[in-house]
Amino acid sequence: MIPAKTLVSTIPASPHPLVDALALPKTKNGRLVVDASLRVQGYTNVWALGDCAAVPTSDGTTCPPTAQHATRQARLIAENIGATLAGKTLRPFDFKGLGKMGSLGRRNAVAEIFGLSISGFLAWFLWRTIYLAKLPGWGRRLKVASSWALDLVLAPELVELRLDRSAGAVHEHFESGQNVFVEGELGDRVYILLSGRAEVVRRRPGAGGVAVEQVFATLGPGECFGEMALLGSAPRNATVRCVEPMTVLSIPKREFGLLAANVPGLRASFEQVMARRGLLPQS
Ligand SMILES: Cc1cc2nc3c(=O)[nH]c(=O)nc-3n(C[C@H](O)[C@H](O)[C@H](O)COP(=O)(O)OP(=O)(O)OC[C@H]3O[C@@H](n4cnc5c(N)ncnc54)[C@H](O)[C@@H]3O)c2cc1C
Repeated sequence: MIPAKTLVSTIPASPHPLVDALALPKTKNGRLVVDASLRVQGYTNVWALGDCAAVPTSDGTTCPPTAQHATRQARLIAENIGATLAGKTLRPFDFKGLGKMGSLGRRNAVAEIFGLSISGFLAWFLWRTIYLAKLPGWGRRLKVASSWALDLVLAPELVELRLDRSAGAVHEHFESGQNVFVEGELGDRVYILLSGRAEVVRRRPGAGGVAVEQVFATLGPGECFGEMALLGSAPRNATVRCVEPMTVLSIPKREFGLLAANVPGLRASFEQVMARRGLLPQS
């Protein structure tokens, strides 16, 4: 058994907050209302396209927020602005989309191209070929194509060494009952609690030799945890568990080490916090 967490990621396409702040006509999902020539409704000198615009199609629907539409709308806007300046007639946006594709993994995909539905290996091959064609530059295309071709005959990599460092401090969210880390694990991050609540728990031998958990601290917004394992290069000596949905700022070991070494007093103030919690002997 390998305990793991499942991460479900959904990525909605929604207009930028900047668009929310504009006093222009919008649909109920926040996209700017434009006419077929991509001019914002009621204006002659404001244009909109892409994900932030609700562009009408000839069949009465709205264009989906996809790159194939956005790039074509960009070309049309440029032409229509030119036509406006030259006093010529504006052209309407008239593109129905080339189709949709989605990779399912394991050399399988689904596709709908020019109204034709395809699935399986052929769809996957088409999907890869189309994305390959979209890469900028022949050098890059050749490198990627040869790597993909070798993948067809060679076994997949079973291990991947992550030689690049982490992307720095990030926000992480935890639900009640979730462990941020567990006693005995190797520490690789320091956390600052931004909202919610956590408890610090240690396992101790109880009656009959059965280990029991003992809560010896509750943490709230503004408090930090996880620093002990980094400062002392020792495994985590306690478990930190979320008791109220919380958001933390999570700082990787390397970045925290740099801060602790270079910010005067930072290491000392963390050591004071740990001593207060009984993690270090009081000096
Ligand atoms: C995960 C995912 C997968 C997708 N897959 C596909 C696909 O396979 N095929 C497809 O056709 N479409 C796909 N899309 C949709 C496609 O990416 C978008 O529809 C398209 O990028 C919209 O183009 P746009 O120019 O409107 O916006 P964007 O491409 O988002 O461009 C907006 C730009 O404005 C910049 N910006 C934001 N704020 C500011 C500011 N204040 N000042 C200056 N610059 C700013 C942003 O950095 C960004 O570069 C996908 C989208 C997502 C999220």
